[in-house]
Parts: sequence; structure tokens; C-alpha cells
Amino acid sequence: MSFDVDAVRAQFPILKREIDGKPLIYLDNAATTQKPQCVIDALVDYYTTCNSNVHRGAHRLADEATRNFEAARDIIKDFMNAPKREEVIWTTGTTEGINIVANGLASLLSPEDEVIATQMDHHANLVTWQQACKASGATLRTIPVTDDGELDQAAYEAMLSEKTRFVAFPHVSNALGTINPIKEMTAKAKAVDALVLVDGAQGAAHGWVDVQDIDCDFYVLSGHKLYGPMGIGVLWGRESVLESWPVWRTGGEMISTVTLQDATWNVLPYRFEAGTPNVADAIAMGEAVRWFSALDQAGVAAHEKALLDHATKLAEEFEGLTIIGKAKSKIGVLSFVLDMGHPADIGFLLDRQGIAVRTGDHCAQPLMARFNVPGTARASFSIYNTLEEIDAFFAALKKVRTMLA
Ligand code: PMP
Repeated sequence: MSFDVDAVRAQFPILKREIDGKPLIYLDNAATTQKPQCVIDALVDYYTTCNSNVHRGAHRLADEATRNFEAARDIIKDFMNAPKREEVIWTTGTTEGINIVANGLASLLSPEDEVIATQMDHHANLVTWQQACKASGATLRTIPVTDDGELDQAAYEAMLSEKTRFVAFPHVSNALGTINPIKEMTAKAKAVDALVLVDGAQGAAHGWVDVQDIDCDFYVLSGHKLYGPMGIGVLWGRESVLESWPVWRTGGEMISTVTLQDATWNVLPYRFEAGTPNVADAIAMGEAVRWFSALDQAGVAAHEKALLDHATKLAEEFEGLTIIGKAKSKIGVLSFVLDMGHPADIGFLLDRQGIAVRTGDHCAQPLMARFNVPGTARASFSIYNTLEEIDAFFAALKKVRTMLA
């Protein structure tokens, strides 16, 4: 197998779009990736051929929908190397996965306990633990970020103690691209018997995830950052932890028996999947993961590294540009500020040239404060981007700087 970027691009119909007569250059992949035709087809096929509610129908369509829905769960299980399919819970995305875990954790936390999050967390993975700590009286501690945009491991080690009940950190920073040493960080938390959640919203799009190897207790991800649809994601949670946890939402699917005064709960994973699930998007997410997993992963990694190396080199040579986040290990994210112009102006003027980047605080305000910037402009690369697109991006950025001067 080898990696052929043109063949990959050909599968993404949106990449043929033009913006004001200019070819679209989509560099906002950390916000959401585009969808290959097979994922779009999976959605259309589902509604065209077997739309039906799952699990409880006695007819052919319900049977087909259920089989496709559960087969998608198995695809995710294999992608994450989850030990059991019962541990793979469909959610609406990373945010909901984190909230389900916070709901369970709330019943365990007491005022003597400590929870550790990080200074680079997305708000979804920080604010949720702030709230959990406020509700329980537990103390929230946060791992600081170094000047290079890495988590300060010495500070992390120093804050771990027998009081640490729970540790949450991102696999990859959405704002800086830093890849964190999640296996080592998990091992350190396990040494004090803490539970560990890895926010995989950004990590999962860049290669297979092995939850057994990481040895964390929870790994959460979003389908839309992984070539799949919006509104669907997965919480993987260790069965031995989840089975004793209180329920999240109540309703159909998650119950076993109901009387007028009481109810008993279904088994995992259904216990955490109240109501009619997002069947079509789950199936399409399964297709996205199947599609991505079938690519030559070494080729994908080499292509992404080539994009980042090229962009970093051009950024370092670019007059007046400061890169925010220079971690040794990064995914294809280039977060930067210019010596003139607010990031929002940069984004606007790039858009006029057909180039899509994201600007702002990237849902990471404490991280922006750490670097003393109001926000950054962020170009984030995916497997369908090319070196030529990066050249075009820097040529457009040069015009932007001239316009802002
Ligand atoms: N964590 C990280 C690191 C993210 O990048 C994001 C999305 N930007 C989230 C959490 C939240 O993901 P979602 O909005 O898909 O729930």
C-alpha cells in the first residue's frame, strides 16, 4: 500500500468547490474534517433503504438498521482496540462523552478529593471538571503548559498524590497541535490509583487509538473530526468502572424493567444510550472509520509530517509571524499571530482568497491567556491537503500582511 494524496482528494466532493472563483483550500480540519463520498453515501443509503428504529422492531427494516448500527459499533471497537463492544457507547460527540463521565464521577467525588485537568484543555474538558469540582467540593488542579506548548510533566508529577481521584487531559491540543505523552501520563495517574480520561477529539483523526495500550479508563472522540458526520461520537469506558456508575439520562432503551414506582437498568452499552439513537450518523461514522482505517497509516503519518514540516519551515521564514506552540511532537496544526492585524482580520482576508482557517481562542481561553494573545489564526492540515496548498496559503498570507501594513 502507499499513500496517494490525489486519489484521497478525489474522494472528497467538497474539495472541488470554489470560493468567489478561487479553488477552496480547506485548512480548518481541527474544527471539522470534510467527508469522503462513501460517508455521504452511507447516510443517504441508510435513509433510502433501511430507515427504521433499532432494537425493538419485528420487521425487516428494523432488523437491517439494527445490524448496521451494531456493526458500526464493532468497527469503532476495533479502531480503538477496545476489549469489549459493551464498552463502546454512542454519544453526540466528545462534549457529551465528557459530560457522561462527569455525571458518574460526581457521585464519587468528595471535598478531600483532587481532580487534575490541564491549562491546554478545550473548554469541554475543563469547564466540565470545574463544575464537577464545584458541585462536590473537590479541588481542581491544572497542569501548566511550557513555553513550547507542552504539558509540564514535572509539575504534573508534583501534583499527583493519594488525594488525586481523577485526571483528564487531551490526547492532542486543538489550539497548538501538541501530542501529549498520554501513555506515560496515564501510568503516572494509575500509580496513585486515579481514574484517567483522555480527550481524543483531536487525537483520533491521526491514527489508530489503542485504549488497552494507553491503559486509560475513558477515551472520548467525535465522528466529525474523523471524516464522519456531526452529531455523533463515542465514549469508550472501562466496563468495570461504568457498570457501577449511576445512569446518565433516563428513557427508552436504557431500562430493563419498569413499574409505576421503579425501574431497573439495561446492560452496557445501552444503559448509557437513552432514547432513539442517531442511527444514520452512527452507521456513517462506522463507514468513516472503516474508510480511514483502510488507508496506509504509515503513509498517512508521513504525509501529515511532510505538511507540518513544510508549513513550519515557511512560517519560520515569514516576516512578522510568531508560531504559538512549538512542541517536539505535533500534529499538523500551525497556530500563529502576525505582528500586525488581529487574528480575525487575518481569517477574513484569507477567506477572500479561498483559504479557510480558524481564528479566535479555539475554546481554550486559559491557554490563550498563558501565551498572552487574544487568540491565534490556526491552519490545520488533513490527509487531503497538499504541499502546493501550503505554498498558496503562505502566498495569500503575504498579501494579507501587505494589506494590513
Ligand atoms: N476537545 C477537543 C480537544 C476538541 O478539539 C474539541 C472540538 N474542537 C472538543 C473537545 C469538543 O468536541 P465536540 O465539539 O465535537 O463535542
